[in-house]
Amino acid sequence: MSDPRGILQPELAAQDDANLIQRDGRRLDHAEGSSKPLRASLEPQPRGAKIHGNRPVDQAEAAARFIAAPVHEKMHDERLWDLRQKRDREMHGIPEWEELRSLASAIKEHTLTRLDEYLDQFEANARSNRVHVHWARDAAEHNRIVHGILADHGAKSLIKSKSMLTEECGFRPYMASVGIEVVETDLGERIQQLDNEDPSHVVVPAVHKLRTDVAQVFAKTIGTDPDNSDVHYLAESQREATRPLILAADAGMTGCNFAVAETGTVVVCTNEGNADLSANVPKLHIASIGIEKIIPRLEHVAVFVRLLSRSALGSPITQYTSHFRGPREGGEMHFVLVDNGRSERLGMAEFWTSLKCIRCGACMNTCPVYRRSGGLSYGATYSGPIGLIIDPTFNARKYSNLPFASTLNGSCSNVCPVKINIHEQIYAWRRELVKRHEVPFVKKAAMKAAGELLSRPAAYRAAIAVADIALALLPRFVIYNGLNAWGKHREVPHPPRQTFHSWYHANRGDKR
Ligand code: SF4
Repeated sequence: MSDPRGILQPELAAQDDANLIQRDGRRLDHAEGSSKPLRASLEPQPRGAKIHGNRPVDQAEAAARFIAAPVHEKMHDERLWDLRQKRDREMHGIPEWEELRSLASAIKEHTLTRLDEYLDQFEANARSNRVHVHWARDAAEHNRIVHGILADHGAKSLIKSKSMLTEECGFRPYMASVGIEVVETDLGERIQQLDNEDPSHVVVPAVHKLRTDVAQVFAKTIGTDPDNSDVHYLAESQREATRPLILAADAGMTGCNFAVAETGTVVVCTNEGNADLSANVPKLHIASIGIEKIIPRLEHVAVFVRLLSRSALGSPITQYTSHFRGPREGGEMHFVLVDNGRSERLGMAEFWTSLKCIRCGACMNTCPVYRRSGGLSYGATYSGPIGLIIDPTFNARKYSNLPFASTLNGSCSNVCPVKINIHEQIYAWRRELVKRHEVPFVKKAAMKAAGELLSRPAAYRAAIAVADIALALLPRFVIYNGLNAWGKHREVPHPPRQTFHSWYHANRGDKR
């Protein structure tokens, strides 16, 4: 008989991990997964970026506030790195991983280059499945269409599963403005809704919160004990509070992970089964679908399903992979296909492949800037590396600082399951923003001066010599002041007695 450990996930089979935490005989990979009550945190939860209309979001300012909350920053960094490591372990268990990535990328690129044909095919097949299909040019039209469907049915309450597209459309605030109650059914998204915050991550929306933060939110909103941060207690309390709302809802809404053209069906992947509740409990089901979610054939779902959850959470598959084909007996199903800037992005030579994104969040989990600054510091629907290339396509001025929130280390591109050249697109956005004059004057002037200096070797060497002397002699406050952002958290290295260039000149200069 084969070794049964071979069928276990590697982390479940490992027995010699010094950091092992177990509960009820099960391994937990991160201390936050432990249900031991934490002492109430004295550290308030850092909030996200301040938004001032169309003014550029100051991601660095919000990130500095997140870093100034060390308990949150450490937990966030560790939790996401934990996901990255689990993803690596899963990836190593699939010998054909790179082939899968290439195949997924090719399927997406093929589809995007024939998007009109596949959208028509999807629409025709969905209609033949008795699904009503709507087209929304932008976020406002999406919201109006959904409102119209709800109004036709006299619906006053809507349960919905997690959908980044609806975040993009400002759907919840719109529904509130027309008097329709929306209840999020994904636990993380519900936490964020109750705390009046946006999701901070595309897969784990409340990942920036400690359990004690959640306990505070639930205490204020559903009346739990503020000093009890036991995860089972919190999850069960939320379940008790939300179930009656789910059962009484007039309509249900889901997003869409994959829209299959050949069948006209929608596939939604969740770990909580909440999409199934949203789609099946009320008789009216509305699915909001970004037009880039189309894939040609049903067999292609298998390629993406193998990549999605492994990349996102380091688990082989999501608990639920639900296919929605048509309305149930006596029910009604509507698909709203949403453009909202996607056609325009498709025409952008350097950025169109960002439409391949399957929203797994792997690029966020691996990004050192994201892990240490929290998703809400970006002040946008999409955060982390993928956000840096998507957000400026919505508003280049407002999100002009974001492409600079990256070290360009390329780790995001390495983990991306659909092979988006993320770090290259971030760099391309920097060039684009300079061209569009959307870079602050000081940064632009500094870059211009650096460019001039670096293109003149003699001037560069002279500047280095002067800088070395200045660093050795100048008083500290002249070097470390508000103008020196680099020196805020770092010491400028001590100048060497001799530069490499002068050493080379003295020792090897005449021995060519
Ligand atoms: S860009 Fe790639 S890694 Fe990032 S969320 Fe999208 S698919 Fe995942």
